[in-house]
Amino acid sequence: MNNPIEETLVLVKPDGVARNLTGEILRRIEAKGYSLVDIKLVQAERELLAKHYAEHEGKPFYEPLVEFMESGPIVAVRVAGNRVIEGFRSLAGATDPTSAAPGTIRGDFARDWGLKVQQNLVHGSDSPESAARELALWFE
Ligand code: ADP
Ligand code: MG
Repeated sequence: MNNPIEETLVLVKPDGVARNLTGEILRRIEAKGYSLVDIKLVQAERELLAKHYAEHEGKPFYEPLVEFMESGPIVAVRVAGNRVIEGFRSLAGATDPTSAAPGTIRGDFARDWGLKVQQNLVHGSDSPESAARELALWFE
C-alpha cells in the first residue's frame, strides 16, 4: 500500500506553551487535516529528555537544549495522517527560526534570541524509526 497512515510525535516546547501558542499550533495541525490521537501536558524529567535527544549528546547545544526542555511544561501530541512525519516537519519549518519560511510555525512565530539553543516552539519526529522510538518514550 502506498503512503500508509503514519503517526508522529509533536512536542510544543516550553517556549510554545509559555507563549500560549499551543492552540495555534494544534489548529494548524488540524486545519491541515491530521488527527490528534493522544495529548498530554508533561513536565519532562532529564532522563526522558536524554533519551529523546540521545543523537545530539556531545554537541555544543546539547546541554542548553536539555535545560531549556526542562524549564517548563511541554505539550506532547500523538498525531496521525498520511505522510504526517514529513508533513508536520513541513508545517514546522526549518530548525533555525530566522531562516524558517514565513507560513511555517517557526517562520511565523519564532526568531533567534542569540541564545545557545534555538527556541523554535516545536519538535516533530524526523523518520518512521524516530517516530516509533519517540512515541514509545513519551506515551509508554
Ligand atoms: P529539529 O528540531 O528541526 O529536528 P535537530 O533535531 O537538529 O532539529 O535539533 C534539535 C533541537 O536542538 C532543535 O529543534 C533546536 O531547538 C536545537 N538546535 C539544533 N541545532 C542547533 C544549533 N546549531 N544551535 C542551537 N540550537 C540548536
Ligand atoms: Mg530533530
